[in-house]
Amino acid sequence: MNAVPAWRHAAFVILIACAAIARGETALSMTQVAPGNYAHRGHDDVATRENGGDIANVGFIVGTRCVAVIDTGGTLAEGRALRAAIRAVTPLPVCYVINTHMHPDHIFGNAAFKDEHPRFVGSKALAQAEAARADNYMRALNRELGDVAAGSEIVAPTMTIDGSGNIDLGGRTLTLRTWKTAHTNNDLTVYDEKSGTLWTGDLLFAGCIPVVDGSVVGWLDDIARIRQMNPRHVVPGHGPLDPPWPQSLDAEERYLANLARDVRAAIKKGETIRQAVDNIGLDEKDKWLLYDIYHRRNVTAAYAELEWEQ
Ligand SMILES: [Zn+2]
Repeated sequence: MNAVPAWRHAAFVILIACAAIARGETALSMTQVAPGNYAHRGHDDVATRENGGDIANVGFIVGTRCVAVIDTGGTLAEGRALRAAIRAVTPLPVCYVINTHMHPDHIFGNAAFKDEHPRFVGSKALAQAEAARADNYMRALNRELGDVAAGSEIVAPTMTIDGSGNIDLGGRTLTLRTWKTAHTNNDLTVYDEKSGTLWTGDLLFAGCIPVVDGSVVGWLDDIARIRQMNPRHVVPGHGPLDPPWPQSLDAEERYLANLARDVRAAIKKGETIRQAVDNIGLDEKDKWLLYDIYHRRNVTAAYAELEWEQ
């Protein structure tokens, strides 16, 4: 482990918890993971009425001119609480709302920022991915959260990234990058050059089991490239903020590599998808949160992907 700089001790627990501030809104609790980079730690859970859909890590980066939001949470209410947390830190306008990918826990707070007229930013594949799933996502949101999710809606990107692109917040440049299909087909990362902070979205799960909704093969390729970025700070999509690097990436890579290896072996032996699901990765159970919910689904997804490989 590197020595922890003194400022981090001071900055680490900037908890703006439950402070009733401007407009009477409750603010999300935030941690300053690096100068100007504020992140909120979501619950390690699926979306429920109790946690209000607050299950992903979300946050914002402050420049001298304006603010970029990175993911907005699972509901309009969470987006508003994130906006209140921004207002507790700075009066600067929100000029960009960036979505790291299409999943509901990362996008449904977007509407909270509409009246500031930011640019909504995502991968070039994001809009179509959201449109294709919009009905299912809205139905699931209403079923799981009911009135807790009132007013939540999908706000499509107005600025898209294909490959890489920079945005300037004033004295701070963010590099946005899209990736091979991995967690999803529209994954995007944000890198703050000034502080060396990488916001991975769900390309990195720390502690919580990685979820394959794209390609296990693509994800392993992306991990090799993400490793080379060698960031000083990391905000994963789920799990502890600024987890050990590269150990957190190593753990995810090991899980996905073993998944691919074991599914390929099962296919080669002529096992059915059902047999693969029953047999593969049982020893991972105690290593990951939410294993029972997502592991079997991952085996199914990997099987469907890899059976056409030969
Ligand atoms: Zn996700």
